[in-house]
Amino acid sequence: MGSNGSQKDHGIELSAYASHRKLADAVYDYEDSKYVVFGVPFDYTSSFRRGSSRGPLEVRRAYDNLESFDVAYEIDFTKVGMCDIGDLYVTESPDETVDTVENVVSIIRKDGKIPIMIGGEHSITGGSIRNYHDYGMIIIDAHSDFRNDYMGNRNNHACATRRSLEVLGHGKIFSFGTRSTSIEEYQDPEYKNVTFLRSEDIHRYGIESTYSSIEQKLHDRLYFSIDMDGIDPAFAPGVGTPEPYGLKDTDVRFLIRKTAKNTYGFDILEFTPDFDNGNTAMLAAKLIQDFVGSRETKKKF
Ligand code: MN
Ligand code: MN
Repeated sequence: MGSNGSQKDHGIELSAYASHRKLADAVYDYEDSKYVVFGVPFDYTSSFRRGSSRGPLEVRRAYDNLESFDVAYEIDFTKVGMCDIGDLYVTESPDETVDTVENVVSIIRKDGKIPIMIGGEHSITGGSIRNYHDYGMIIIDAHSDFRNDYMGNRNNHACATRRSLEVLGHGKIFSFGTRSTSIEEYQDPEYKNVTFLRSEDIHRYGIESTYSSIEQKLHDRLYFSIDMDGIDPAFAPGVGTPEPYGLKDTDVRFLIRKTAKNTYGFDILEFTPDFDNGNTAMLAAKLIQDFVGSRETKKKF
């Protein structure tokens, strides 16, 4: 934030009137940066409640209210090398948008930087993941997103895990929080090649024990994708397709803390401001800090 609270910050006040394209702590230029934030205001395949295209704007607006220092990590986020290149121009075509995301992430990765993508709907992960062939993946999601195509398109948000499996291969994807799967997905022979960790079992055994049970199988380099509907609607009501009985916010933070140092790509998606009470935006903003903080901190979690 850069303010000590003694003066009224007109920048924050004015941001309520204008499209705000920079994350507050993203004070680095691209050249000098280590983390590259960008938004993808795309929601054209959303099947239920549209509006995640305004997610990037509202996450940035919520982020303005976070302190730049986090005492848990002892990190000043204005010093870690974050830049924000703004929102990508997107069309109504999911195929074009996914290709654009692939290209943008490709450039960022070739420069040795870490992309932080704010959606937008889950279909765009399919573009990003094409740059991570040799990686494993952690997904947070209520849904298995395992349809081969949906409403006539393979780049639908209901196909995100399926597209990722095609890139990464068997046994490398761990999806936490599953509680919504169609019978067609469930009976698909490929379904067992992704490890779906059901929300119900995480409630029963706890996130630490669940994570311990798969930790040895995790690839040593990871991509981390958060569909906000994986988190319980009590914590994250502003999503396109809410599902009861979800993960706790701290379950997701735990997984980020455990894996961030091995994570080279991060996205946070499906936040739909029209249905929010403000909490989903704040949580999405905070999870970005949790990712960067966990990655940069000298503390052990
Ligand atoms: Mn999803
Ligand atoms: Mn979902």
